[in-house]
Amino acid sequence: MDRFDCEDILELLSGYIDDEIDSVMKQLLEQHFKECEQCLSLLHSLEKTIALSKEAHRRRTVPKKVVNRIYYEIRIRYKR
Ligand SMILES: [Zn+2]
Repeated sequence: MDRFDCEDILELLSGYIDDEIDSVMKQLLEQHFKECEQCLSLLHSLEKTIALSKEAHRRRTVPKKVVNRIYYEIRIRYKR
């Protein structure tokens, strides 16, 4: 597999943000972000939300509840 579609990005996005995927995957994701406005803006809003959440909870990790909510919203956006 040398390309991702948007569905794949969705699956990998949390790993990407938490820095849990390997560098090859990371490169492929970044490649996709260069080509896909939709996923790039998703990444940005996700990062922003997570940053805010970390701030609010004063901890390094984001509560699962917050992450799940973000994903729920992302899925709705993708289905349009
Ligand atoms: Zn995409």
